[in-house]
Amino acid sequence: MHSREEKRPFDIRLVMERIRQAVQPFPKAALTQLADEGHASAFEQLMACIISVRTFDETTLVCARRLFALGRTPGQVAGLDPALIEEAINRSSFHEVKALRIHAAARRVVDEYRGVLPCEREVLLSLPGVGPKCANLVLTIACGENRISVDTHVHRIANRWGYIQTTRPGQSLHALEEKLPVEYWSEINRVLVPFGKNICTSRLPRCGTCPVLDMCRQVKVTGHR
Ligand code: SF4
Repeated sequence: MHSREEKRPFDIRLVMERIRQAVQPFPKAALTQLADEGHASAFEQLMACIISVRTFDETTLVCARRLFALGRTPGQVAGLDPALIEEAINRSSFHEVKALRIHAAARRVVDEYRGVLPCEREVLLSLPGVGPKCANLVLTIACGENRISVDTHVHRIANRWGYIQTTRPGQSLHALEEKLPVEYWSEINRVLVPFGKNICTSRLPRCGTCPVLDMCRQVKVTGHR
């Protein structure tokens, strides 16, 4: 066990390398999993991200697959009755408002962008229910851009490492953009989601078997396994 005084200097390259290895046995983050299943278009990723808000990945996967069975393109989804969309995603939280947002987004893409969601951050952010996290995930996974997506796991873990010192995910995005080497921008969300769900958990992180314990400052970690 490493006491806080015995820590070695934090090396982000080594940390990312070890965590990449450590998460290999765990399920992938929901949007990455869906992309691997062929749902890699910007609009499919956007719909999945809207569904994923305050919803477990396992539930997001079920809901997204059910919705994609009804429609995968903006044209197809705009043609659906919002009640059908809601029924498909009814296991996710706030499914009523999410169904209306998905339908409204599809409608706008059909009306304003000829049925194809553009890979443009401003356009994504202007759609209902889409914040910086979802916009950046879509741009990274579907559009091949190199962006940092900060969700609750990325925010919590980067702060526990002592790599950044922030109180809100929005601040974490800016702090990471200043500090994180660009080569890890699109990868950090992909590896820290499974790492945060299985090792550096919100409650009682598994520090005792964590592969980066020798470098992590364990900031505000008061109890662990
Ligand atoms: S599990 Fe513990 S040691 Fe590992 S990253 Fe999280 S807080 Fe740090």
